[in-house]
Amino acid sequence: MIFIVDNNKGLVNKEVITGNKEISYPYFNSSNVDKYIDDYLDKYLNGDDEVLIDYDYIQHDGIYNVTFYRYLFDKKMVSEKTSSLVINTHDDTIFKTSYATPDFDFVSNREYDKNKKRIALTFDDGPNYNTSKIIDTLNKYNVHATFFVLGSRIKGNENILNKMKASGMEIGNHTYSHKLLTKVTEEKIKEEIGMTSKLVFDAVGTYPNLLRPSYGSVSSKIKKASDMPIIIWNIDTLDWKNHNSRKISSRILNKVKDGDIVLMHDIYSATANALDIVIPKLLDRGYELVTVSELFYYKEISLDNGKVYGYAR
Ligand code: ZN
Repeated sequence: MIFIVDNNKGLVNKEVITGNKEISYPYFNSSNVDKYIDDYLDKYLNGDDEVLIDYDYIQHDGIYNVTFYRYLFDKKMVSEKTSSLVINTHDDTIFKTSYATPDFDFVSNREYDKNKKRIALTFDDGPNYNTSKIIDTLNKYNVHATFFVLGSRIKGNENILNKMKASGMEIGNHTYSHKLLTKVTEEKIKEEIGMTSKLVFDAVGTYPNLLRPSYGSVSSKIKKASDMPIIIWNIDTLDWKNHNSRKISSRILNKVKDGDIVLMHDIYSATANALDIVIPKLLDRGYELVTVSELFYYKEISLDNGKVYGYAR
């Protein structure tokens, strides 16, 4: 007999934003577990003026291992891994474990083998509190990726954009304010794109070459307004929904093919952790991880302004 286990059963993602505190937490609909998590988070929130908390979890047979991450905005958004909770949903018991902070090695200089299989990981919606950690992880494996940044998030985060550039990452344009571009005028679309390109230039000295419209939405108006090729994706990790590094990794590993473009968001801890799982496996399978522009370059596909690309084959 086969039992099908609903991985999400027992856990619902909740988000609370009050003033300068933003908290994402798992809700189990069990008074014992939920009260414990409330008290646990209260302790971590106590005294922090500006804080963001999110989490990553793994789940096996009703046992959840949840790790919370705390970001203190006044300390330049450095992320701290807090202790981890092991929650047994069979008997609603909880115990707490501790983590050591991981070290990252920096490796630079890389050479390309033109015959390798290649894919492009892409990260949207930053720069944000988690972006630096993602860059560190990509550097650790000596791989490249493309970050589609929001213009509205550049001010104050110029150092993160410079770190991307210094690490060989590509910076793309993800509009200024993440509006749904199908609902605004062509003039407004041009303004959203232009403002962001200018802000990227002011931060790093080069303009973005690629556009990813917010929500990946494309229309004839957007194509006409874009002075860059439009890059969407063909593998969606659903990281914004899952907060689960293993699920994010599986969605990539189950589908990946030469020339794919993978959508992720650099603003989640689970996404950062997924990289540590998925990158070694992709490298084992012979994939090279490159920026979107590198991907098309090695596939000898030239990109035209205003044209839409979801993969390189
Ligand atoms: Zn986005």
